[in-house]
Parts: sequence; C-alpha cells; structure tokens
Amino acid sequence: MSQNRKEDRAADVIVIGGGPGGYVAAMKLALNGKKTILIERDRIGGTCLNRGCIPTKALMHCSEVLETVKNSERFGVLLDSWSVDNRKADEYKNEVVRKLSGGVAWLLEKRGVQVIKGNAEFTGERQIRVTLPDGGVQELSAPAFIVATGSESLLPPIEGIDGKNVMTSTEALDVTELPDRLAIIGGGVIGLEIGSIYSRFGVEVTILEALPELLPSADREAVQALREAVGKNIRIRTGAKVKAIRDSGNEKQILYELDGRDEEITAGKVLVCVGRRPNTGALGLEKAGIAVSDRGYIRVNDCCETTVKNIYAVGDVNGKTLLAHAASAQGILVAEKICGRDAGINIDLVPGCIYTRPELAYVGKTEEALRAEGIPYRVGKFPLNANGKALSMDEPEGFVKILTGDTYNEILGAHIVGARATDLIAELSLAISAECTAEELVQTVHAHPTISEAVFEAAEIACFGQTVHVI
Ligand code: NAD
Repeated sequence: MSQNRKEDRAADVIVIGGGPGGYVAAMKLALNGKKTILIERDRIGGTCLNRGCIPTKALMHCSEVLETVKNSERFGVLLDSWSVDNRKADEYKNEVVRKLSGGVAWLLEKRGVQVIKGNAEFTGERQIRVTLPDGGVQELSAPAFIVATGSESLLPPIEGIDGKNVMTSTEALDVTELPDRLAIIGGGVIGLEIGSIYSRFGVEVTILEALPELLPSADREAVQALREAVGKNIRIRTGAKVKAIRDSGNEKQILYELDGRDEEITAGKVLVCVGRRPNTGALGLEKAGIAVSDRGYIRVNDCCETTVKNIYAVGDVNGKTLLAHAASAQGILVAEKICGRDAGINIDLVPGCIYTRPELAYVGKTEEALRAEGIPYRVGKFPLNANGKALSMDEPEGFVKILTGDTYNEILGAHIVGARATDLIAELSLAISAECTAEELVQTVHAHPTISEAVFEAAEIACFGQTVHVI
C-alpha cells in the first residue's frame, strides 16, 4: 500500500536521525519552544545506544564481573562453584539498551518533540519526503533542518569479507555463541574494546592491525602502556595487512602479510572493524544542494552548517569527530544557534575514551603534536601504583600524564592510562577549556582516597618537578 499523505505538520526545525546528535538537538530545540519534528527509521538512540557505546559497556561490565569472580580468592571471597551463562549476559545487555532507548523516547514525548518513524530524503532545499513503515509517504517542509544520520561499518574490499562468521561490531554484540578463537581485523577503538570483552569471556583473541602502531592519533607513551597491558591477554599483530578470509573446515582462515611475509591464522569467527562510512546514500542531498567531501561526509563549517543556509549536519555524518559525545555537543551547538544563541562549546576539544582494562583517556595535545608544533612544554607524570585507591582496587597499572606550557604552565594535554581514566579525563577537559594552569589544579583539594589524587600529583610534578608520593 502506498499513499501520499500531505498533512499540516508545520515545524520550525526537522531533525533527521535520532542518535545522540539528533535526539539531543531535538530536545534542546523543544526546550527552547521550537516546534520540532524528529524522523528516525529505526530505534531511537542510534548506533551509540542500540549497537555501540551502551551495549558494549553493558557487556564490558558482565565480562568484568566474570574476571572478578575468577580472581575472587585473592580478595578473600571463596566460591564453591560458578559458571557462565552467555544468554543471561546477552539479556542483561538487551535490558540496559531497552531501558535507555525507552527512556529517551519517553523524554522526547514529554518535551513535545514529534517523532515520525520513517525514512527521510530531501526532495528540494526545504522539503523532504518520508517513507513510512506501512509504505505511505509524507511530504514535510521546514525553514531549518539538522541532518544527524550517523555512519555504518565500513567493509574493505578483502576476499571473503562477506562470508559466514565474518561479523561487524553489530553482530559481535551478540555473545550467546562465542567462538573458541576470534580474529579481529583492525586494532582501533572497536577492535580493542570488543577484543577485551571476548578475551575476558575466555575467547582467544588476535588483533591484526595494518598500521605499524595502534591508535596513531593518541599519545605514544600512553598507547605503549595500553598495548603492554592489553597484550597480556590479547595477541596484537601490528603491520599486518589482511588479504583474504577463507573457509577452512568449520573455521575461518585469515591470510595476512607481515614484514613482507605471508602469514595466516585460523579462528571460529572474524570481526571486521576498520572504520565507518557516513549514512548519506539515500538522503537525496544533491536535491537540496548539500555538498559532500571526497570521502562522502557532509561538508560543514565551524558551526556545523552545510553548504546550504539553515541546513546543518551534526555527528558522524559530517566526519569531524566520530564520537557520540562529539555528536551531542554539535547538536547542542546547532540547536542554540537556531535559537539565536552561541552555546560557547569548543567542539574541537573532544576527549577520547577507550574502555579497555586499563582504560585510556585523553584530551588536548599529545607530546608528539607539541614537538611537531615546536611548543615548549613540561611533563607531569604520576604512576597509579603510588595511588592508594588504585592499589586498593587492585588496579595499579598506568599513569596520569599532564602536559603544560613551559612558561605559564597552562594545561595543553592530558593522557591517562588506568582505572577510571574515562571519568578522570573530565577534570582535564574542563581545565583546558577554562584555560587553567597546573597551579590551579594543585590549589584544588582532591578527595582522598580517589584516583583523582593522581591528577593532582601529576599537576604538582608539572609545577614543581616533585610531589609527595613518588621520589
Ligand atoms: P578506527 O578508525 O578506530 O580503527 C580502524 C583500524 O583498522 C585502523 O587502525 C586501521 O589502520 C585498521 N585497518 C584498516 N584496514 C585494515 C586492514 N585491511 N587490515 C588490518 N587493519 C586495518 O575504526 P573502528 O575501530 O572501526 O571504530 C569506528 C568508529 O567508532 C571510530 O571512529 C571510533 O572512534 C568510534 N568508536 C568509539 C568508541 C569509544 O569512544 N569508546 C568505541 C567504539 C567505536
């Protein structure tokens, strides 16, 4: 059945895509009195909530519980017996996703955002056509649009990439049937996080990364520490270019080139995580005159406005920073701009967080970038094995490293490897954003016992070259 429904649904703003970029923007607009329509073809929450950040963190928690149980004797907890039920772990993950997705849908309704389920495409500069689940079609127009359609997994042209038991991160989140061995193509954020989860569940994991080093944009010393820690449980091969994936009995045979030699491994399943590509395919961008880059991302200026006035693009689809919190920040920036205000958010200062054990979190400049830019700097580095809370938690690996300007000691960058790194980084993001000096961190009392004391002591080292708890 296909019918054309032309209804009066006049809106001030139409948001296309209900992920963390789109739904946050829509709610901000509605809170500011703008009549807002949000169009989403799938589930509210986008990749982050349904197939990315949230389910991964729920599974991460399950796998950490398992690790704690395995080590419980060390903490004086003697268990008669225990076993693992993967279906329950999977159900726990689904329950968290359901709760959050339902919560966001409820909030949208309460805020007065009109949500339309369907697939939107531009038919002109200010018009879209929405194809509804029942095949019906709805034509809508508005003076302003926000495109927030996100991205999808990129599948490189490797022989056998579309074969059985070759997964993207979406399928890898189903942990009901785990292989004995998992081969991961791509040692980026997804490879490291899902590799950590599978490895804690007892799967033998090998990561094959084409580049000579992991995470090229992060601080080298921090990545080295992460690699050493993660490498205790996961085999990591860098400089390994995968050429083909073939069937070998019930297993997959992964052929790769390393240092000019042909090598291979076998595994029950293969996870492909070599990056993502923007969801722009069926959006009809050309009909609205919206330009895209060579790589297909929507071109935007500093305010996330596209090449067409009053049409904005936020989140993965503009390719600026492919992170959920960057999408939300851009969504708020744009919503405020449409309401005539400057949110004052620096969308280029975005912390990066990797949820391995230990975690890695960073913000601002790396040492490599400071050297390349010729900026004189100081380093304050404090090891977590001298921090009472980290030791009490039996997580002494890692450090807090703070980089400051040589003359004024202003915070330029921070790199944390260790427990709670992803929470600790917020203080350093604020410090950089508010242009704090290391002295100001030192003059701030940090609670004891917390790992945040390591931030304080790293700042003290940056200021005075010494601190109380390390020689
Ligand atoms: P990524 O870009 O982080 O890493 C992909 C890696 O694959 C790169 O290091 C690349 O060199 C490597 N690679 C490419 N082709 C290869 C080949 N043929 N053989 C071996 N290696 C190859 O991409 P991702 O890990 O797929 O993550 C996708 C996006 O999702 C990223 O932008 C990431 O930031 C985001 N994400 C973020 C988080 C988080 O913030 N915690 C978690 C998951 C995903």
